[in-house]
Amino acid sequence: MISIRNVSKHYGHFQVLSDCSLDVAEGEVVVICGPSGSGKSTLITLVNALEPFDSGDIIVEGQSLKSVRNLAAFRSRIGMVFQHFELFPHLSVIDNVTLAQRKVLNRSQAESVERAEQMLERVGLLSQRDKRPAQLSGGQQQRVAIARALALDPVCMLLDEPTSALDPEMVGEVLDVLRDLASGGMTMICVTHEMGFARHVSDRVVFMDQGRIIEDVPTAQFFEQPRSERAQQFLSRLL
Ligand code: ATP
Ligand code: MG
Repeated sequence: MISIRNVSKHYGHFQVLSDCSLDVAEGEVVVICGPSGSGKSTLITLVNALEPFDSGDIIVEGQSLKSVRNLAAFRSRIGMVFQHFELFPHLSVIDNVTLAQRKVLNRSQAESVERAEQMLERVGLLSQRDKRPAQLSGGQQQRVAIARALALDPVCMLLDEPTSALDPEMVGEVLDVLRDLASGGMTMICVTHEMGFARHVSDRVVFMDQGRIIEDVPTAQFFEQPRSERAQQFLSRLL
């Protein structure tokens, strides 16, 4: 489904990613963790073709990113969820969820509203459809952002610390939505330091340090016997 092959990237002289390879199969849930600055956000940003890379290749559903012509259409196939939600503040919840459906997928107003309502129902927010983002809690805003991504029928979801900007009491409601998605078979790559979520929901854990993937193992193995010293230290601080 997603294959990152020997990808490296520099910002100026700074090497942010060094020879990173990662394969994610359909329906798999992969958690990426690691210290701040290790390149986690950069890596998933590349998969959504938001940034160029220097060498290697990334294949999504058999298509090399290097050969993508219609970037907007390609990106709509990948649901991206950020730490700070990034909803349109001047639009209602329902308009936030219909906009890209109409602009990128050329769906009719009626069709996009129907799909938006289904997705808002799924994240438990249909009753909030006419509010503005500022009238919602952080957890609710993040669930709207997830509904907005899902409404485009993505083949996979990329999530960059989806709960780290939330007050602790709202983390659970967002993780519950992600857990439901995972059990529904959605392919996901999630950068998170929520180790409970990683442990119970992910199939594999990838640990990054200084631009390298230094561990890529089944979840149980990561928690029971991480191989690298860096991962052991990281875990001992979090758990
Ligand atoms: P965090 O846990 O803090 O979110 P991260 O693992 O997601 O960290 P990245 O955001 O991918 O790390 O950044 C990796 C490194 O690349 C950092 O040292 C960062 O300063 C640097 N970096 C990121 N974006 C840019 C940019 N646009 N220009 C220059 N350097 C950048
Ligand atoms: Mg980051």
